[in-house]
Formats: sequence, C-alpha cells, structure tokens
Amino acid sequence: MKLSIIIPCKNEEGNIEDLFKKLNDTLKNIKYEAIFIDDGSTDKTLEKLHKLYEKDMQHVKVLSFSRNFRKEAAMLAGLEHATGEYTCFIDADLQQNPKYLIEMYEFLENNKNYDEVSMVMKNVNHKGIMNLGKNAFYKLMNSLCDIKLESAASDFRMFRNNVKEAMISLSEKNRFTKGIFSWVGFNVKYLPYEVEPRTSGNSSFGFIASVKYAFEGILAFSSKPLKLSTNLGILSLLASFIYFIVVLIQVLALGYKMNAVYALIILMLFMFGIQFILLGVIGAYISNINAEVKNRPVYIVKEKLGFSDKGIL
Ligand code: UDP
Ligand code: MG
Repeated sequence: MKLSIIIPCKNEEGNIEDLFKKLNDTLKNIKYEAIFIDDGSTDKTLEKLHKLYEKDMQHVKVLSFSRNFRKEAAMLAGLEHATGEYTCFIDADLQQNPKYLIEMYEFLENNKNYDEVSMVMKNVNHKGIMNLGKNAFYKLMNSLCDIKLESAASDFRMFRNNVKEAMISLSEKNRFTKGIFSWVGFNVKYLPYEVEPRTSGNSSFGFIASVKYAFEGILAFSSKPLKLSTNLGILSLLASFIYFIVVLIQVLALGYKMNAVYALIILMLFMFGIQFILLGVIGAYISNINAEVKNRPVYIVKEKLGFSDKGIL
C-alpha cells in the first residue's frame, strides 16, 4: 500500500460520497486506502460508509466508534490502522481539496530529505472574533510552550512512516494533534492551500469548542501556568521587603510614628509571598508527575544506519 488517507467523519452524510468520488478520481495512479472513521455520527454517515464499502472494498476501509470520541481520537485510530508508506489526514467536508494530495505526494516522492508536508491555509475563512481569537491563541501558545505552532497550519498533512510511528508513540489520552506534530519534530515542508467552504452540514468547532480546544492545547504542552504562582510569590515577598525598608526609613530617619497597619501590610505581603512560592513548589512536582504520566518518549529516532533488528552490527 502506498498511501493511507485518514478521514474523520462526524455527521457528514452529505459529503462522503462526493469526497470519495473526488479522491478516487484524483488518485487514479496511486495505490491507496481511504480509512473513514465514523466518530459517533447521528445521521446517515455510517449507512453511507457501508454502501461505499460494498461498492469499492479495494479502497474503502471503515472504522466506526461506539459514540463520539472527538476528532483527535478518530485521528489516532486512523494512524493505528494505516498501512501505507505515506499517511495523510483530510477532513470529510471537502474544505480541503483532494487535488492537494497529489501535490503533497509528489513532494514526498521527489524530496527524500523531507518527512512531512503540511498544508497552510492561505485564506483563513473565519470571521472577526474567531480570527482574532485564533491568532491570540497561537501567540499565547508559542510564548508558553517549548514547541512552536504554525498559526495557519492544519491537520491537512502527509507524512512518512517514521512520523506516523512517532505520532503513535505519544500515547497520551488528551491528544492535541497539532502540538504532537510539532513535538515529534522531523523535516516539515509547509505549502499553501486554499480552504474551500463546507459543502454540507455544520462545523463542529464553534467559538466555545475552539476555546476548549485551545485550553487543552496549553494544558498538554505547557507547564508555565503552574509557575505563575512562584513568580507572584517572589513579587509579593519583594514588595514586603521594599515596604519594610520604606517604613524603617520613615520611622527611624524621618520621625514618623510606627503604625500597626504598616506592620500588618508587611506581614501580609510576606505571608502571601511564602504561600505562593510554596504553591509553586507543589506546581513543579505536579508538572513532573504530569510529564511522567504522559509517558512521552525521551527521544525520537528519525533514521537508523548500521543497526540490525537484533542489535548493533
Ligand atoms: N470531526 C470528527 N469528530 C468530531 C468533530 C469533527 O471526526 O467530534 C470531523 C468532521 O467530520 C470533519 C473534521 O473532523 O471531517 C473537521 O471538522 P469540522 O469541519 O467540523 O471543523 P472545522 O473545519 O470547522 O475546523
Ligand atoms: Mg471543516
């Protein structure tokens, strides 16, 4: 098998047949499998997938979830079942034109030094606030996390098996695939593509869902919010010392009368400082536990030379 195409579908009854027809027309000369994942659709998506399978068993594969597990889960299931030399994701709603698959495929065929092609949206089709929100999120994410995210890059990507294996090796349950793509590294070529309007049905990612998704991304890839407390604590402690010195000068040099309120403010700032710093210490341990529980690989191998399966030659 040369190419595996992973297609997460939730309530896409109006798009599936069109998409498959376009895929089939586009990929005439490539040996491919289209892995449809029905992510708990409540419309006729699964019925349509059954029909497609009956019609073209050579190309169509269907995985159907027992309920909606969300797109991230569908993508992982696709990766785990893909058998192609190259794997790619494409949405079911025809917003990502299958013609770009050929562009990605040819790029990988002709550029052995690249492991992945990622399509970047030329025309972001979100309106006003969503667009602002998305840009703000990527800025925040890039400043908080060690990984870097391309703001207009989507999950519309094609990659070699080394990337696929690496993606699967991150076995965390709260998956943020965009971040995982960045985390695993490899040589990525970014190419522009034009997003098309959804042909049928509605987007599952409204404003609230997008905010939740953004929050999950930060949770999965940054422990900096946990360190916020330590920084606040240090500031509070510093403020208490500075205020202590100011009061000292006022009382000893300038002849002010000592006031209980001064002492109370100094004490409060000092105690807050200590508390926040200790919270930060707990945060640091939680961050370590979090990293251990996620059990990400310590390193990812891109290529091996001179090793047999049995060990070093
Ligand atoms: N999708 C999915 N499970 C979900 C939500 C979405 O498999 O819980 C699929 C959906 O069918 C589509 C792709 O993920 O193929 C992208 O979803 P959508 O078009 O709603 O997102 P948008 O393009 O608006 O970001
Ligand atoms: Mg869409």
